[in-house]
Amino acid sequence: MPATAAPDRWRLVLVPHTHWDREWYFPYQRFRARLAGFFDLLLDILERDPEYRHFMLDGHTILVEDYLEVRPDRRALIERYVREGRLAAGPWYVIPDESLPSGEALVRNLLRGHRVAQELGGVMPVGYLPDPFGQIAHLPAILRGFGIERCVFWRGTDDSLKTTEFFWETADGSDVLVKHIAGGYGIGGPFPIEEDAFYDKIEDIRARLQPLARVRTLLVMWGSDHVPPQPELPGLIRATNARLAGAEIVHGSLPQVFEEIEAHVAGPNGLPRRRGEFRSGQHAHLLPGVLSARVWIKQRTFACEQLLTRWAEPLALWSGLLRRRLGENWHEPPPPAGPTSPHPKEAQSEAGLLDRAWRLLLENQPHDSICGCSVDQTHDEMRPRFDQCDQIGDDVAYEAMRRIGAQGPAERVHVFNPLPGPRTDYAKAVVPAQSGAEPVALVDDHGKRWPCQRIASAAPRPGRVTVGFVAGDVPGFGYQTYKIEYAAVTNTGRPPRALAIENEFFKVTVDRATGALNVLDKKTGARHRGLNRLVDGGDRGDEYNYCAPDPDALVDRPAAPAQVRLVESGPARQTLEVTMTYRLPAALTPARERARRVVSCPVRVLVSLSPGIPRIDVRTEIENRAEDHRLRAHFPSGVRTEVSHAEQHFGVVTRPVALPTSDRTWSEEPVGTHPQKTFVDVNDGKRGLMIANKGLQEYEALDARGGVTVAVTLLRCVGWLSRMDFPSRKGHAGPPLATPGAQLLGRHVFEYSIIPHAGGWPRAYADAHRFATPMRARWNQSGTGQLPPSASLLELAGDGLVVTALKRAEDGDGVVVRLYNTLDKKSSGRVRLAEPWSRAELVDMKEDALTPADVVDGDVRLDLRPNQIVTLRFAP
Ligand SMILES: [Zn+2]
Repeated sequence: MPATAAPDRWRLVLVPHTHWDREWYFPYQRFRARLAGFFDLLLDILERDPEYRHFMLDGHTILVEDYLEVRPDRRALIERYVREGRLAAGPWYVIPDESLPSGEALVRNLLRGHRVAQELGGVMPVGYLPDPFGQIAHLPAILRGFGIERCVFWRGTDDSLKTTEFFWETADGSDVLVKHIAGGYGIGGPFPIEEDAFYDKIEDIRARLQPLARVRTLLVMWGSDHVPPQPELPGLIRATNARLAGAEIVHGSLPQVFEEIEAHVAGPNGLPRRRGEFRSGQHAHLLPGVLSARVWIKQRTFACEQLLTRWAEPLALWSGLLRRRLGENWHEPPPPAGPTSPHPKEAQSEAGLLDRAWRLLLENQPHDSICGCSVDQTHDEMRPRFDQCDQIGDDVAYEAMRRIGAQGPAERVHVFNPLPGPRTDYAKAVVPAQSGAEPVALVDDHGKRWPCQRIASAAPRPGRVTVGFVAGDVPGFGYQTYKIEYAAVTNTGRPPRALAIENEFFKVTVDRATGALNVLDKKTGARHRGLNRLVDGGDRGDEYNYCAPDPDALVDRPAAPAQVRLVESGPARQTLEVTMTYRLPAALTPARERARRVVSCPVRVLVSLSPGIPRIDVRTEIENRAEDHRLRAHFPSGVRTEVSHAEQHFGVVTRPVALPTSDRTWSEEPVGTHPQKTFVDVNDGKRGLMIANKGLQEYEALDARGGVTVAVTLLRCVGWLSRMDFPSRKGHAGPPLATPGAQLLGRHVFEYSIIPHAGGWPRAYADAHRFATPMRARWNQSGTGQLPPSASLLELAGDGLVVTALKRAEDGDGVVVRLYNTLDKKSSGRVRLAEPWSRAELVDMKEDALTPADVVDGDVRLDLRPNQIVTLRFAP
């Protein structure tokens, strides 16, 4: 029943729209041809029929750019309709998947969407998420960061949600008013144009939506995947209104729907409040198998996001600030190898290059693209976008390192750390060779020696050698320089043959029968057995959903005992190599059972320990020759707990290990696989096991004998975009097209780290971040020495504070720092920018000023609520 006094009649606000997947079962250019036809038709309708009042452009703006690229002459017309409110543009640049991009990428997506929509004449201030496969817990805070107080979404709800109107909030207190589109964005399909059929359709929608509504305004989404606008719509609405009893159809917009809801709800207490993510497949397909489909896309997304936000942006910013401060004393290093033309000296040119890199990356983040649930051609076209993003980001980052180095001490290794410090971690550098002598240590400016070892397998250019070393005490968001100490080569005798590695934290051995690792945690005395055991099962699902064959045939050990070798044994790192062969069923049979024929898949695991570093780093390489299967790494934790903790955007999400109870009416069977960012953790408060990763976004916490086992998905190999013949999902999720590329035949490399720890996840999350974000080192031959041997651009102090952006302001005027409190409790801290600034203020995510910052002695003081996100701007 309506919550408050409401109008007598129901108002059905019909919002015409299309859902424009930019690339999916067709690649981009094929859909774009249809997009041109779609816009031609839409603009024609708007021009001819003033009664066709409004059309909503699917909440994103890249489709307008795609049309204007072929029809630049239509720009003024589109701008006019956006200004007049007849077209709604934005707020997103692309409709992303929410789980798979980083939090910062979601912010940049909205930032770019706002910019493009603003240039067209205005932004639709509604967080419209028609199709993403589940809703992330922190989305309300991201939307509020853009001043967006209203949200429309579809997937992820279950029966615990009783109404289509509610407030959705995050731990920091941000909330948005949600209009849930029960029945989906395509509820109006197949969009009859005959009056009786249109009337029946409207009555049918009313019957479905009225029982869920708390306000007598119903949202009727009138559009679906790639459907054109209907010129008949105004006439159909007029004719149907003449027949409807107790209701009226209004051709309107999403903001209009919210205005009506807000007018009839007495304050925020009038509606239910919900907190947390929405990841149920009860009413609509959640499609959770996309977290692991085509894993290379997830790995490259992670690498590109890291490159832009951890390296290219902060280093280009720092180099620009130093250039300004040093003025005439700035030393521009001569161009390195290649063209003799210089890199850009103007910050604006660098910013323009990075803007292009972000566009390339965002083009790969629409839900059908990043999820890996499209045809092969669509995903093949993502590779060059990743490649080009990588080329730009790497070039900008390297050039900035070179320029910063040129102002610093000469003949030193510069180690850069993009995380809080001081940090001690393993790094690699290419340094000059000396005849008759080897590099034996790196020495910092306090004379402290950090022993190094030569890495023979990494062959640099003649006259150089690659060394690995533990770089100690590197400042946060800064660098530390080291001289190299050489010593005469001595015969070290036969290499040690030990089949164990250890440091002050752990001793690691290998169980040859399974290839898994046994770990003694020296600090707690805990013994972990069977870590990183590779377990392979069949998969009879498709790109969207995993489904085990019945019966499954698990392969959980190599065909013969693993071979173990000590391949690195130096003062900076010890590495065991485990080689083995998994004999896996070649594929599924036509009956969708695992075949008897097996193929041999070589596996190589490298396990490394370094002194002073409380992690066990793992690199797993596999040559995949099998189809229709899922390969996971298992980590028995020995911890008894009913929940797992996984890093998500701007915080950590706690999820039950047990599956929800479901029945045959559910659109999908519930699964235990969930999304993660850089780590998952299970703990009992006294001790725990964290598994960190680089771009492996799917995990499951399995309730096993002796405690919870964490499973991280490495490969999920399927041959179809969508199938109908498996029980874990009802109905198709897309067209039934073959996708041989999703079988992922060939070589794959996975990187993750095992972090046993005391206490809960807050004790270990920083180690996961350090694993996910290694330091970079560069030999600096010449430098003016104007900069000190170690320096920091940003100092950060405070429990649980995590920086996600350190970059030039969007308008070029100053420095922007974004950080959040990852803890489930309040925290306070301080931020200090080392380069000169005149004014510090809190800004929103659009970088518009909110309030002056609390500055004490040059430090910005911060008090943060749980999971609160803060954006700071320092004016020059
Ligand atoms: Zn879609």
